[in-house]
Amino acid sequence: MLIRDKFKDKRPLISFEIFPPKREYPVETIYNTIDALNDMEPDFISVTYGAGGSTKDTTVDIASFIEKKYSLSALAHLTCLTSTKEEIDDTLNLLKVSGVRNVLALRGDYPKDAGANYKGPNHYKYAKDLITHIKKREDFCVGAACYPEKHLECYNLDKDLVHLKEKVDSGVDFLITQLFFDNETFYRFKEKTDKLNIDIPIIAGILPVLSKNQVEKILSLTGCTLPQKFLRILEKYENNPDALREAGIAYATDQIIDLLSWGVDGIHIYTMNRPKTTRRILESIKTIRGVLTNGEAS
Ligand code: FAD
Repeated sequence: MLIRDKFKDKRPLISFEIFPPKREYPVETIYNTIDALNDMEPDFISVTYGAGGSTKDTTVDIASFIEKKYSLSALAHLTCLTSTKEEIDDTLNLLKVSGVRNVLALRGDYPKDAGANYKGPNHYKYAKDLITHIKKREDFCVGAACYPEKHLECYNLDKDLVHLKEKVDSGVDFLITQLFFDNETFYRFKEKTDKLNIDIPIIAGILPVLSKNQVEKILSLTGCTLPQKFLRILEKYENNPDALREAGIAYATDQIIDLLSWGVDGIHIYTMNRPKTTRRILESIKTIRGVLTNGEAS
């Protein structure tokens, strides 16, 4: 089912992100994870696309497996920066014949080999160029990324929002945010998108932090900020992985309950392929989820 159609009769949506196994492992190693996540009745599961298209085929295979085995909507991520327009069409055709109709259309990050030129006429420069192309085909529901604290490369949030508005106007059906740790940042961002008449659903991306290494990596990749409340947890438990994990789960749960109470369109949990962690969060919001989606406790 198309994700945009799900929004017509249900909000908030609850969804999960997974990433394909590393190349040296067979694709089947992810199946138990998907099985466990499917038990939690998400509205869709998204499958990331490795940097530079490194997981192109497995992303399609896993998304197709989710659709076929569970009749559950899969959202296949797709980046355009390092693929030619022809290669993008090959992937879109493959997604279509594999029964995957939801795509998260992204630009991707510049690879470290700075000498490479990905800006020629055979490449889509920005996500909006990819989206314009996909929308011409009329066979996909298209999601895109947004950044409550601005994208790392853009010099300020207002400019990034101008680009976001152009991207949305190229035909985006819904947005998913980069992770954030302070809900007030998201609420301010939503005020700004409302002012720009961006009226498609915006799903909040939430990461339950599991280790200090993970936080350091995320900060360097995303440039997101950490509120005092979160920093206190990191400092206090940085040498005790179990305590940090417990606090990380509680922090993410707290964020999600606040976002749901505020009236968010959807929550997308960056599961890091850890269904046990995701299950603990979902258990904690079980009744709230029932009240919000069915009007009664489940
Ligand atoms: P764009 O929307 O094209 O924006 C990129 C930059 O260009 C921004 O700074 C924007 O302000 C600027 N810009 C846009 N239009 C213009 C213009 N006309 N003129 C000048 N500047 C402009 N990466 C992966 O490799 N694989 C994944 O699976 C993946 N999944 C993701 C999922 C989510 C929910 C998010 C938030 C990110 C994901 N990413 C993934 C990371 C993403 O690829 C990077 O953040 C990338 O750097 C930007 O992608 P984008 O689609 O947001 O780009």
